[in-house]
Amino acid sequence: MDKILKRSWVEIDIAQIKKNYCIYKSRLPGEMDVMAVIKADAYGHGDVEIAEALMHEGVKHWAVSNVNEACKLRKSGCQGQILVLGYTPIEQLELIEAYDITQALISEEYAQAVLSTGIRIKCQFAIDTGMKRIGLDAVDADECERIIRYYAERLNVTGLFTHLCVADDNSEASITFTKKQLKQFETVVCSVDDLNLKYIHCLNSAGGLSYEAKYSNLVRLGIILYGLKPDYSNQLPDGIKTAMVWKSVVSMIKKIHIGETIGYARTFVAKKDMCVATIPTGYADGYNRQLSNQGVVFINGKKANIVGRICMDQFMVDVSDITDVKAGDEVILLNDSYSADDMANMIGTIGYEIVCNISKRVDRVYI
Ligand SMILES: *Cc1c(COP(=O)(O)O)cnc(C)c1O
Repeated sequence: MDKILKRSWVEIDIAQIKKNYCIYKSRLPGEMDVMAVIKADAYGHGDVEIAEALMHEGVKHWAVSNVNEACKLRKSGCQGQILVLGYTPIEQLELIEAYDITQALISEEYAQAVLSTGIRIKCQFAIDTGMKRIGLDAVDADECERIIRYYAERLNVTGLFTHLCVADDNSEASITFTKKQLKQFETVVCSVDDLNLKYIHCLNSAGGLSYEAKYSNLVRLGIILYGLKPDYSNQLPDGIKTAMVWKSVVSMIKKIHIGETIGYARTFVAKKDMCVATIPTGYADGYNRQLSNQGVVFINGKKANIVGRICMDQFMVDVSDITDVKAGDEVILLNDSYSADDMANMIGTIGYEIVCNISKRVDRVYI
C-alpha cells in the first residue's frame, strides 16, 4: 500500500467483484451462463484485472464494445468467447479473425460487407426488438429468418442476441414492453431453431434479475457485477456491493473570511468565516464538474460540502465543522455508502457514467 502515490486513486476490491458474480449467478437458472460485460475498461475497474479474476471463477464469455478492447483482452491472456457488441470498421476484421473474436452483425448491410471481405469470422446477429440502435428488425420475423439463414450458410454465425431497454423499470408499461421484446426475440430464435446456433442471449443485469428467457443461455452481466444499480430505484440482491473506493487527500487547508469567494467565476460566497480544504482531484480525473457547489466528500468519517466550481485538477470543500483535519488526510470521494449511484443521482446521471469517466490518470490499486 505504501507504494501508492497518494494524489487521486481508486482501490478496487477484486474479492467483492467475484462475490457479486457468485451471488448473481446463484440466482440464475442452472443452465444459464454469464457473459461478463467488461467494456469501457470494465466500467472503469480495469478490464484485464477483472477478466483474470473472473476467469478463476469459471467465467468463459466476455463482452466488450469494440475491437481494440477485445484485442487487448485476448493479448492479456483472456480465454473463451470475446464478443464485440458494436460496430467494427470493416478494415479491422482481420484483427477480429487473428484474435479469435466474435463480431456482432449489426445490420444486413454490415453482414454483406463482412461477407465481401472473404474473411470467415465468428459472428452473431444483433436483433432489434425495440431499442432502435442496432440489429435486424424483429418486427419482420420472416425477413430476420431469411437473413440469418442466408448468412449462417456463408459466415460462422454462432448466435443471436437482442438488448432490452426498460428492464430496470418496474412500471406496468415497461414490463409490458420488455415482455413484448422477449416475445419478439423468441419468435426469431424459434424460426431458426434447426440451425442450432450456440449462443442465444437477451438479458442484461436488470433483465437477469426480473425476467426469464428459457430459449436463451447467457445473461450479459455488466453493472451489477460492479455492485452498482441499473436504475437508482432498483434493489440489488443481498451481499452485492460496490467494489470501488475513490480516494484523494487534503493538499492544503486555509481560512476564508466572511464575504470572500471561492474558485472560478466566484460562484461561492462565504456567509461566515470558514475553514476550507483543497483536494487534488478535478474534472480531468473524471470528477464531474456538475458537482460544483453540490457534491460531498468524506474526511475523517465526516461529510464535507464542495464549495465553488470543480477545477480541472482540484476542488475545494468546507471543513469548518471537521476538527483535526490536516494536509495529507485521506479523503473519500466514493465508497459503498456514497456510491457512484448516489453521486450520479445528485447530478442527474447514472452510476455507469460516473465510473466509466474516472480517467486514466487516476491510479487503480487492487486490494
Ligand atoms: C452494456 C451492455 C450490456 C450490459 O448492461 P448492464 O446494464 O451493465 O448489465 C449488455 N448488453 C449490451 C448490448 C450492452 O451494450
